Amino acid sequence: MTDPARTCAACPSPLPAGTHPMVKYCSEPCRYAASRQSVAKHQKKDADKRRSDPCSKAGAEKLKAQIERYWADRGKAVSIKIVEGPFLVTQRSVSWWLRSDMVDGRPRPTTKE
Ligand SMILES: [Zn+2]
Repeated sequence: MTDPARTCAACPSPLPAGTHPMVKYCSEPCRYAASRQSVAKHQKKDADKRRSDPCSKAGAEKLKAQIERYWADRGKAVSIKIVEGPFLVTQRSVSWWLRSDMVDGRPRPTTKE
């Protein structure tokens, strides 16, 4: 099995013969440059995702309005508060939670019922 000449994935330099197949870069600086690029790409992707996330504050406000509208249409008033949740390591941001006075996902029965 002959090893075709390979070049660095970050610059045009050829990789030395016998370089391990997992090694894609000719030098540490090339490897770091490539990993920095990949991190930046992923961070941008995460930021895009975060904007449409129901755990974001905007998402929580949208959901709160949806739930309130749903029950208002049915003649029930529910009280929903947006509360700041814990910092999510995976999202790298604080999460936003909804806290309502509903029981099992339904408005509380009034005392008359
Ligand atoms: Zn290189």
